[in-house]
Amino acid sequence: MEDLNPFKIAQAQLDEAAKIMNLDPQAHKILREPMQTVIVNIPLKMDNGKTEVFTGFRVLYNNARGPGKGGIRFHPQETLETVKALGAWMTWKCALAGIQFGGAKGGIICDPTKLSSGELERLSRDYIRAIGKFIGPKVDVPAPDVNTNAQTMAWMMDEYSKMVGYDEFSVITGKPLEIWGSEGRFNSTAMGAMYILREAAKRMGLDLKTARVAIQGFGNAGKFAFDLVTKLFGSKVVAVSDVGGGVYSEKGLDYDKLVAATEKGGSVADSGAGSKITNEQLLETNVDILIPAAIENQITGSNASKIKAKMVLELANGPVTPEADKILSQRGIMDLPDFLVNAGGVIVSYFEWVQNNEDYYWSLDEVYSRLDKLVTRSFNEVMKTQEDYKAKNVKITLRDAAYIIALDRVAMAMKSRGWY
Ligand code: GLU
Repeated sequence: MEDLNPFKIAQAQLDEAAKIMNLDPQAHKILREPMQTVIVNIPLKMDNGKTEVFTGFRVLYNNARGPGKGGIRFHPQETLETVKALGAWMTWKCALAGIQFGGAKGGIICDPTKLSSGELERLSRDYIRAIGKFIGPKVDVPAPDVNTNAQTMAWMMDEYSKMVGYDEFSVITGKPLEIWGSEGRFNSTAMGAMYILREAAKRMGLDLKTARVAIQGFGNAGKFAFDLVTKLFGSKVVAVSDVGGGVYSEKGLDYDKLVAATEKGGSVADSGAGSKITNEQLLETNVDILIPAAIENQITGSNASKIKAKMVLELANGPVTPEADKILSQRGIMDLPDFLVNAGGVIVSYFEWVQNNEDYYWSLDEVYSRLDKLVTRSFNEVMKTQEDYKAKNVKITLRDAAYIIALDRVAMAMKSRGWY
């Protein structure tokens, strides 16, 4: 059986890239473990007057290139191992994007669908109180992720500001516009992925106007990917799913129906937009482009041989396991790796942080054009690295290529700082 521990997977990916690129063993040793791990237990008075205890994590994986950066997830199955893996992936993501951040991640073990709005707000605030000593604009800067959003960030920024005694907007990104979030941050993860898709389709000779798409996940990333892929390219999204299941329609799904169903907390499966399918069926749908936009370990050794898409655009973090990686690559499916594809979120978070630090704000056009430049540059660097290795008769995946660039940058920063 394939080991699906996300941190073991992250370490295995790192080890493979380190071997290919001959990474200095000392740098490799530092990069195999997070630099700081914080575990907190938060007593929370529930609406019924009883106290429950919630466990939360914040991992600062590496800060050689700048402050830690990464989202906070609210998830019932959250584990420290997952948060460590996600912190490692954030480190590579920020390094590949060429932005002045290291990598970090946070999470709370909780099921937000079972918490009232008041309980969610108190939990968000108490989590920030608990990890407050370990974050800061120049230390570690959180952001939204699975089951957290601009409102969560607003409560957290407010709580941190109360702790320090002044408004500290740049402690957290993904904030609402009225408290100095950035234009374009809400759909930036999906927007960045669209620029990558545009470039990848060009290379593959895939016509996006007639392309059929399946999307797993309808949250911060998947929902906007649906909207953008149809609006920007005219592609047809035939299948969508979320935790509650999925829907399929040969003639293309109606976005507004899906939004209406999910706005009230329901599932796309009950939207009536198409016939019901399972999450497993969604991944195996006959489409040109498969966009996993939910959580890790979705395409594994057991279903990778059944994927029919020509291209996998990894909008989630860690959706494809190492065994699946090998199968997809043998089958000639173009698998665009997560920390290249979904970097748009953290890139616009970086823009938000820069704007907060300068107290000066950019237009939406400016945000998108700068985002396009950064992700297109990363895409070209990844393709070039793969080609350079091919010229040396070494066949590497696009994930390996992305790793090689990122590891080289982090290792160089650690070397200059005298860490090895
Ligand atoms: N949670 C997003 C990610 O995984 C964004 C992180 C950020 O903006 O810091 O990339």
